[in-house]
Amino acid sequence: MIKLKKRLLLPIIFALAGLAVALPGAVATDDPDPPPAMVENLEAFLSPGGIALTWDTVSGADGYEVFRSRSLSGDFELLEPELMGAEYTDSAIEYGIRYFYKVRAYRLEANIVPEEPHDLPSDIFVRVYGDESEPADAVFTLGNTKITSIVTAKHRALTVTWDPVDNVHFYEVTRSDTQNGTYKKISTVQGTSFINEKLTTSVYYFYRVIPCVEFQGKIGRGGTNTLRGRALLEEIDISSIKAVKPKILEIKWKRNKYADGYRVYRSTKAKGPFKRISTIKNNKTTSFKAKKQKHGKLYYYIVRAYKTVNSTRVLGLSAHPRDAWMDYYGHRNETLARKQRRVFKSTKNTWYSTRSSSWRNMKRITVKVWSIDKKGRKYTRRVGVTVHKKLAKTVSKIFLEIYNGKEKFPMHTVWGYNWRTTSTGGRSEHSIGTAIDINPRENYMIRNGKIVAGSFWRPTKNRYSIKRNGDVVRAFRKYGFVWGGDWVTAKDYMHFSYFGR
Ligand SMILES: [Zn+2]
Repeated sequence: MIKLKKRLLLPIIFALAGLAVALPGAVATDDPDPPPAMVENLEAFLSPGGIALTWDTVSGADGYEVFRSRSLSGDFELLEPELMGAEYTDSAIEYGIRYFYKVRAYRLEANIVPEEPHDLPSDIFVRVYGDESEPADAVFTLGNTKITSIVTAKHRALTVTWDPVDNVHFYEVTRSDTQNGTYKKISTVQGTSFINEKLTTSVYYFYRVIPCVEFQGKIGRGGTNTLRGRALLEEIDISSIKAVKPKILEIKWKRNKYADGYRVYRSTKAKGPFKRISTIKNNKTTSFKAKKQKHGKLYYYIVRAYKTVNSTRVLGLSAHPRDAWMDYYGHRNETLARKQRRVFKSTKNTWYSTRSSSWRNMKRITVKVWSIDKKGRKYTRRVGVTVHKKLAKTVSKIFLEIYNGKEKFPMHTVWGYNWRTTSTGGRSEHSIGTAIDINPRENYMIRNGKIVAGSFWRPTKNRYSIKRNGDVVRAFRKYGFVWGGDWVTAKDYMHFSYFGR
């Protein structure tokens, strides 16, 4: 509302009474107020609503008029005749047209000179104008969209992401099969990303994202970069890696029916580099046997699907590598849990409570060992030993390596399974067939200075005594066994056990 000043009341009464005509000079000399000051600092800038104008508030002004022209020297038409605040947004614009603006302030004064023409809604007041501002101009154009990334979203889909454009109302996402082809609008989007689904995997699509504004029912469009992307085949999940032979790991994975084949990669480090070890040229074969794997070594595998596009193999996404020990036999880095699973198939119930339940899991194996005849010559002898069936291959391998060793270590006694208690009253690991004694007499067990079993241990003098780092200890250790000679509280030099007790 216009605030009336008290000094205006008298002239109003004059005006109503028709006396103003008779007294023109009286009020003019009564009123010392000058016109409002010129509008200063008019600025025009873009906003989502159109071209916004701001200027400095003029003290004493009752309102402002905004004028607009399409050229600086052209006719400025009155755009807004009655504006209270010192800001205005022109949304009656066309995209790409430069507009020039001027603003002037006015003060309302009683109409004491009615013969002067004016365009006020009331004929009570006249406007006393300040000078027009300096012109300000602006043209509404949008910046360019910058598409920043196009990545595989999920199966047969791409996520297109771009930086926001100032003052935009929405974006038109367009796509073409070739860079310079025809781009068709595939979606209108408010945000700054879009998921394009149901694509053909592994082929390139080209995207342009056009920023748009709409004024007066017409759409104005900015520019865009072009970026291509392709939806890659999904990651292949390796379902299992298993040691199926002493030097062979079998890798199995889930089929991807969209693939033309798979590639298998291997590394000895989690972060690679990964080397391709196989290409499988169909999607139905979902396993591969990696050969020449080293015993007791940790490997990392990745399987990637591929699709052939224009005779090029386009690889699918890469999953995280899956690791596996070459653990056909037990090995020195084997965890307790892995050992328990190897022997008992689980990490629970890792013992046998009765002799018969243990016996059912035993296996008799025959191994070659060196013996010494009465003339002191070494010869090969075969001895039988009963061990847990799950360790039969491991124990056979250990004895083979000892037999093939340079020492040609002689054995006159080899004991395996034996349902018995230990010297301290617990049940011996021999009871579950996972411990082996060799040459007990020459490799005694000693606790607190007392000999518990056997007679002595003289590894430098007696050929039947087991040397600390000899072939026997190294072979057992290599395949996951612990030597009783390495124990701390007691020493049991004849004794090798898988679980270390
Ligand atoms: Zn023993």
